[in-house]
Amino acid sequence: MNERARVALCPGSFDPLTLGHEDIVRRALQLADEVIVAVGHQPSETKRHLFAIEERLELIREVFANEPRVIPAEFQGLTVEFARQRGASLIVRGVRTAGDFEYEARMARMNRALAPGIDTVYLAADPRHVFLSASLVREVWSLGGDVAPFVSPPVLRALERRREGSG
Ligand code: ADP
Repeated sequence: MNERARVALCPGSFDPLTLGHEDIVRRALQLADEVIVAVGHQPSETKRHLFAIEERLELIREVFANEPRVIPAEFQGLTVEFARQRGASLIVRGVRTAGDFEYEARMARMNRALAPGIDTVYLAADPRHVFLSASLVREVWSLGGDVAPFVSPPVLRALERRREGSG
């Protein structure tokens, strides 16, 4: 990308990528020349995950295979530090509920204090996805529910393989 390209960062855990995430990434493409979908994780993380980082990155790659402006990446540590390293001037986040907004606003103010040159843009979740979260998809899937309406075909296939693999 040339120096004047506007780069946006969409950080998250994407475990797994849902249609809600996809919508935010596609809309971020209208705000920036390049969108880095950044899978954040910490070495000390104890939270249970479903897909390993590499698998999450592969799913992002597959889902956005036709969109060369989407760049999958992983990072550890501060989001703003990673944004700075990659030359991103925007952090794009999806906001579903007032609870999301409270959390996001605190985060955005802290990030702005840490890195005044990087701004956070919130996109209101599409009404079709407002109830959707990766953790809910994991929960429904682990209880045997059908998550086909909430994820793209590559993600659904990966979930099905995982189910078969784990018997
Ligand atoms: P989740 O909250 O689903 O576990 P992440 O932590 O990976 O997701 O979130 C990454 C980003 O995607 C956050 O900005 C989050 O608010 C946004 N996001 C997650 N689900 C949705 C959705 N259904 N609609 C819009 N934005 C969403």
